[in-house]
Amino acid sequence: RFITVEGPDGAGKSTILNELYNKLVEEGRDVVKTREPGGVSIAEQIREVILNKENTAMDIRTEALLYAAARRQHLVEVVIPALEKGSIVICDRFIDSSLAYQGKGRDIGMTEVMNINQFAIEDKMPDLTLYFDITPEEGLKRIAGHDGREVNRLDLESLDFHQKVYEGYQSLIEQYPDRIKVVDASKSKEEVLASAYDIVKRFIG
Ligand code: C5P
Repeated sequence: RFITVEGPDGAGKSTILNELYNKLVEEGRDVVKTREPGGVSIAEQIREVILNKENTAMDIRTEALLYAAARRQHLVEVVIPALEKGSIVICDRFIDSSLAYQGKGRDIGMTEVMNINQFAIEDKMPDLTLYFDITPEEGLKRIAGHDGREVNRLDLESLDFHQKVYEGYQSLIEQYPDRIKVVDASKSKEEVLASAYDIVKRFIG
């Protein structure tokens, strides 16, 4: 089964994902934890092009296509082989990030971004998505509380952008109520982990 983890910046999803993974491994489950570009060389090289600050002429549609290309390579090299071996795959960010960040945040349009991603993933949608829900204001406050690198990144992108990303995620929740399960990420780490674990446990049995 293919599980993805999503949420705006500052939702704490990566921290919770690590703990969730440890819990599942302790139970003896066969779990693969990954994130795009997932250490896959071709996908890493694509990601470098996206993140290279010298590429100031990067067009937003080019960026969306590159994310989709990196996604495909990681899907083919990591996710699909693991699923075929019968592992539970938990992936930190996947298609919903592109729909929210590029589709809504960058105003390309969620349908357009869905179309290029459908080409990239060939209907390999997640079976379950945990969405860590936090408002942009709250997420921003959390990030400002710690990591300097992330503060810089957020300084470059306005609250308005993050507000749009948030709205993008809200419409995805409405569009895919069966797949996307919402976790209230404003609660304590223990509570967030407990809800996430509950949802996954109910799903995998
Ligand atoms: O929170 P995480 O470290 O996974 O996200 C890294 C950053 O990459 C996000 O804050 C977001 O700005 C960016 N991103 C993006 N489009 C995606 C995926 C990530 O802009 N499709």
